[in-house]
Amino acid sequence: MLINIVSSLKTVLSPPDDNPELLQAKFSAFSRQVPIMYALVVLNTLALAVTHYGRAPDWLTLYLPGVLDAICIWRTAMWWRSRHRTISFEQAIRWLRSTIALAGLLGAGFSAWSLSLFSYGDAYMQGQVAFFMGVTAIGCGFCLMHLRSAALLVMALVVVPFTAFLGSSGNVVLASIAINFAIVAIAVTFMLLTNYSEFEQRVNSGSALRAKQAELQAMSDTNLRNSNTDILTGLPNRRHFFAELERRMAVAAADPANKRLRVGIIDLDGFKPINDVHGHLMGDRLLIAVAKRLRARLDPAVFLARLGGDEFVLISDRVTDRQAAVAARKLLIDIFEAPFEIDDLTVRIGCSIGYAEFPKVAKSAEDLFERADYALFYAKQHDRGGIVGFSAVHEATIREASVIDQALMNADLERELWIAYQPIVEAKTFQTVTFEALARWKSPALGNVPPIRFIVAAERSGLIAQLTPMLLRKALEGAATWPEQVRISFNLSAIDLTSPLSILKIISVVENSGVKPSRIDFEITETAVMGNLALATESLNALKALGARISLDDFGTGYSSLSCIRELPLDKVKIDRSFITKIEDDPAACLILRTMIGLCTGLGYECIVEGVETHEQAQFLRTEGCRFMQGYFFAKPMRVDRVRDYIAASNCGALQLEEASGWTRSVVSSIGAPQR
Ligand code: C2E
Ligand code: MG
Ligand code: MG
Repeated sequence: MLINIVSSLKTVLSPPDDNPELLQAKFSAFSRQVPIMYALVVLNTLALAVTHYGRAPDWLTLYLPGVLDAICIWRTAMWWRSRHRTISFEQAIRWLRSTIALAGLLGAGFSAWSLSLFSYGDAYMQGQVAFFMGVTAIGCGFCLMHLRSAALLVMALVVVPFTAFLGSSGNVVLASIAINFAIVAIAVTFMLLTNYSEFEQRVNSGSALRAKQAELQAMSDTNLRNSNTDILTGLPNRRHFFAELERRMAVAAADPANKRLRVGIIDLDGFKPINDVHGHLMGDRLLIAVAKRLRARLDPAVFLARLGGDEFVLISDRVTDRQAAVAARKLLIDIFEAPFEIDDLTVRIGCSIGYAEFPKVAKSAEDLFERADYALFYAKQHDRGGIVGFSAVHEATIREASVIDQALMNADLERELWIAYQPIVEAKTFQTVTFEALARWKSPALGNVPPIRFIVAAERSGLIAQLTPMLLRKALEGAATWPEQVRISFNLSAIDLTSPLSILKIISVVENSGVKPSRIDFEITETAVMGNLALATESLNALKALGARISLDDFGTGYSSLSCIRELPLDKVKIDRSFITKIEDDPAACLILRTMIGLCTGLGYECIVEGVETHEQAQFLRTEGCRFMQGYFFAKPMRVDRVRDYIAASNCGALQLEEASGWTRSVVSSIGAPQR
């Protein structure tokens, strides 16, 4: 019981050392009120001492009040000095503890002093003492409100002796003053305690609110970080890249004389086959390894981010002079020099880079990025593994492309598009076995636009989905009138292969054409299928299920691995024209072509060599066992009305095969000039 009372008393009389926030709040509220309290005590003491001077002994009117006031003034000075100082939690505890102890001492001291004066005065002066004690105790209680223990201590040390002293005086007036004072003191103490608990609640709810706010802030910081970070590699992501690009461009624009910056987009070469063959998990780990290596080797001032897939992007404001640019080029090539080791697998990949410079080629972040992207596209097409900067030539090409885009949008496609046919001949007999359908566009505004241009434009704008079925319908209309044994070969674009809807449209065109699907070859390119191997394979299987055959066009120009090609349901491979062009003067080219023909036939594909232009090339291919050929040596692409004559003439010509050297030329001259 006693122990419980002592421990409760200890709790009430101690500052809150388990709640730093409450303690700090008390300290700051308290430090504002302490000077007022001491001023009140000192002035009241002076008033009492002055009236009793001469009546009471000097030690009661001069020395004792002097000492007590001096202590008050010293404490005031200490609090005053500390008002702007930031103090630690431990210091605050020490201060408040010493204040509570001193409150006890001063409370007891002033009580004893004022009660000692009581016997020296008349009734008025005794009233003054009672008034002094009551007013000072209540004033101090209010000033100490935020330090509950000190307030209670002072009240107790003044009120208890005061009521006891006056109550036991035997004087009815004094006893009634004592009772009044005790009632007021109880009411004041009650108010103090209520106020104190409200204060505590306010501080605690404030600190809970602040804790909640801090938690929310931390959550919002994490969200911000996550929304700006690429989860896989930990690099900044696309959104962060654009924000940083805008920021750096604004800085550079403010100092146009000195500041230039470059945006470079890095696209990994050879990543997709690894991803397809070894799985996405391996692909992810390779991307992480690439990100780590890039970050470790690039200058820390270079901002590096991952755009998504196998594309990374960097912003540099250092690579401005020629020497630095050359060094940066070398570094980027070096970074991919060493293979990547992932578990037991050693993989080698490269990269193509396109970059654009601010403010030289673009003024806005979007334009700058688009130009770097175009340079990358160019690198992928023409300089794989290289670094290409966006130039004036590219600008002109883009302008031209946009003119083509516009013209294509406004074209009457049904009227302006037509099909040219180029024969593919059997190497042994020189007999025409197939015609490749090649799209032609005569635009009223631009004249003849090569297919390589308008097909790319149609792919870009999405018009290809409409174009391919239309071209196929036109191509099959021609083929429907040919002898049954003559096949038709039709080129599909990458977008056709990755759109199930397009494949359905293509199937429907075939079914309505009157041409047996078994007479049709669909040509696809490596690059077209590698974009999405799984979907492309599904599309090709659907076409094969129809009865059509599949040819891999321009073989040798793409960057797919043979193992990927083996996955495709192919029937034929067309070796790109670039392999035949050099065979007359380059023995190595002969060897390469021979190997490619051997490879295709060895894998069970029918082999066609494109771009045969001379008799010597044709002879070489015949001796190498190539089965089919296509090229200007036999015929250029021709209009549909010439095809029937060509078939008739070529079949005649084929009979004279043994004296073949002048054969093709005579066939071509018999049907007139070729049409491009
Ligand atoms: P491709 O499918 O590889 O077609 C062969 C291209 O080589 C044709 O160019 C043809 O005219 C040309 N060629 C044929 N023999 C020789 C030769 O001996 N020497 C030279 N120098 N060139 C020869 P064209 O007609 O300009 O077509 C270019 C490309 O446009 C085609 O390449 C094909 O990828 C694409 N293309 C053409 N028509 C279509 C189509 O209807 N749809 C799609 N998606 N692409 C098409
Ligand atoms: Mg083709
Ligand atoms: Mg080709």
